[in-house]
Amino acid sequence: MKIAVLPGDGIGPEIIEQAVRVLQSLDEQFELETAPVGGAGYEAHGHPLPDGTLKLAQEADAVLFGAVGDWKYDTLDRPLRPEQAILGLRKNLKLFANLRPAILYPELAGASTLKPEVVSGLDILIIRELTGDIYFGQPRGVRIAVDGPFKGEREGFDTMRYAEPEIRRIAHVGFQAAQKRGKRLTSVDKANVLETFQFWKDIVTDVHKEYPDVALDHMYVDNAAMQLVRAPKKFDVIVTGNMFGDILSDAAAMLTGSIGMLPSASLDAANKGLYEPSHGSAPDIAGKGVANPLATILSAAMMLRYSLDRAEQADRIEAAVKKVLASGLRTPDIYEEGTTRVGTREMGDAVVKALAA
Ligand code: NAD
Repeated sequence: MKIAVLPGDGIGPEIIEQAVRVLQSLDEQFELETAPVGGAGYEAHGHPLPDGTLKLAQEADAVLFGAVGDWKYDTLDRPLRPEQAILGLRKNLKLFANLRPAILYPELAGASTLKPEVVSGLDILIIRELTGDIYFGQPRGVRIAVDGPFKGEREGFDTMRYAEPEIRRIAHVGFQAAQKRGKRLTSVDKANVLETFQFWKDIVTDVHKEYPDVALDHMYVDNAAMQLVRAPKKFDVIVTGNMFGDILSDAAAMLTGSIGMLPSASLDAANKGLYEPSHGSAPDIAGKGVANPLATILSAAMMLRYSLDRAEQADRIEAAVKKVLASGLRTPDIYEEGTTRVGTREMGDAVVKALAA
């Protein structure tokens, strides 16, 4: 099993170092190869996604990605900016499913803006389709309206569309993820108003026939937004389109209140994936040794579960993280009175030690 390790910029190298140490402390050893990406790619090879980095990512079984970006690159032409590396990787690796767990460890319940009893112990997974929907549908633009009450006036327009294979493949990801968790899948749509999402609902219902062990329910997006804030723990896995997923996954992430804790995965049709923390490169704290490495360590656990078929190892890492939090260690972003403040490396040390125990 080969893992492409792309640390990137800012806090990327610091947090990736800790995730790599965690992987290296497992019984099974993986082949890890590192390459520059983002600003680091630009510095080394004049491009945010150098050919060698892309080749490595394509050949590897999975990609572990830190973060990219720094204000000093803001004046570069857009195609040369660090963030383009993420878009390039998504496109070239054909990543279409974005998995974002929102987990709130009981010890961190105070970090959420919601009442602790509503969110404590939250553990849900939002799966967002990444390639279709109104974000990419053609035609789109600004034109003179040819009909309707504002005929002759300028109007903006976009096209919402989803092809059957696009819905089928994301539905499969949803059902398979549910099989690995609580065996419940909620498909979020707006079938009462949108033809595209009535079609979505029909296809997801059809794919369900292949997964009789998973309970499926359908929910309108407005209700889903309400339930996420009212009773988020009722969900297990949510699968939805690009636009609804964009909005709901950010809302769900913020339920947990701690950006340094949230991992994510983007998968292709063969479950090969790119794994990264949900946060950015945090240039404001880069090099200070205070960044929280847990989102990256938990991304490595997701990698073991979804791309490398090593669910047991993933469980072990997640249990080690829980244990470290229960012992009271906190990086500054999640520090509360009565806990022990530690830096990036000490947090990594503690997870490695908890794994060995
Ligand atoms: P950010 O997520 O980097 O930082 C937001 C805030 O959260 C900052 O105060 C930062 O210090 C803090 N933070 C983030 N991660 C943390 C961690 N692990 N531990 C402790 N604190 C943490 O977002 P931003 O400041 O808007 O963007 C900074 C750069 O990151 C920009 O160049 C942006 O384009 C880039 N970015 C990259 C990605 C990515 O690589 N996937 C995603 C988002 C933003």
